[in-house]
Amino acid sequence: MIAIKNLSKFYGDIRALDQLELKIGRGVIFGLLGPNGAGKTTLVSIMNGLLDFDAGEIEILGLELKANPGAIRRRSAFIPQALALYDNLSVIENLRFFAGIQKLSGAVLRANLDYAISVNRLEGMLNQRAGTLSGGQKRRLNIAIGLLNNPELLYFDEPTVGIDPESRNQILETIRACKDDAKTVIYTSHYLPEIEKICDEVAIIDHGRIVLQGRLESLLQEEKTDAVIFTLLNSSRPQLEVIAGRYEDLEVVDGATLLLARQSAVRIGHLLEILEREKIAVKEIRYGTTDLEALFLRLTAAGGADV
Ligand code: ATP
Repeated sequence: MIAIKNLSKFYGDIRALDQLELKIGRGVIFGLLGPNGAGKTTLVSIMNGLLDFDAGEIEILGLELKANPGAIRRRSAFIPQALALYDNLSVIENLRFFAGIQKLSGAVLRANLDYAISVNRLEGMLNQRAGTLSGGQKRRLNIAIGLLNNPELLYFDEPTVGIDPESRNQILETIRACKDDAKTVIYTSHYLPEIEKICDEVAIIDHGRIVLQGRLESLLQEEKTDAVIFTLLNSSRPQLEVIAGRYEDLEVVDGATLLLARQSAVRIGHLLEILEREKIAVKEIRYGTTDLEALFLRLTAAGGADV
């Protein structure tokens, strides 16, 4: 699906990508991680034909990038963080406008519109003005616009920044649905628990090189620590934050996950008692595997900043 060999990019004297090698298979959600300045934006911009490069070979969707920019663009989509919507137009008018720019018509237009609307659950707001949508709904419309060409390959740039947890979950569901429809998704985010939740495979980029790539499950299994992860039912983030506030080594990962940094039967027993008292059910306790954040910090120079 994607094969990048020996890719280098300079901005003057700055080497943003340094003989980077990357392979991505079809039908996966692929997380691209790295500290600020690692080269993620440069890489994704090059892959989308928005930026030239100095050396290397890039094949996307089985096509050589420089020789086939138009064909690749028609089969892929980049969903930017910034919203590109017309506030004065309704949801359906926005969709039709952007479909018109792509010259979609007839049966293809109808099928692609239906797909973009249903996968983003926009049915109930088609006639609402875009300017009156909530932040999360605007993001979903932005994604729907990106999906209008029914792309095989999608790039998401931090799609959940600054939105509430419910909207965030809806967007993650949309991304999973894209994968279920055999699309390949490349996902950049600084929010590692989210990457952990959604991605099949990750690559960590640092100083313009890939420092680690693999299936998330095996990477995390190799990285043994003393951590214990509790997956919970019927809990909320504020409730978990109150509980975590009582322990130095207990961390809230998200509204349904707690991470206890050090194993001990006493501590686990005590925590289970507290959860029971709070009427929070435990769905799963996972021992001995760390989270992606620990792995990320060990492998990059980020040292805890900006992740
Ligand atoms: P972030 O997470 O902060 O967006 P990033 O991983 O996307 O970072 P890039 O934006 O690709 O990183 O930057 C890689 C390197 O290239 C950095 O050292 C950055 O300062 C430099 N760089 C990026 N764009 C330019 C530019 N237009 N001119 C000069 N240097 C640049």
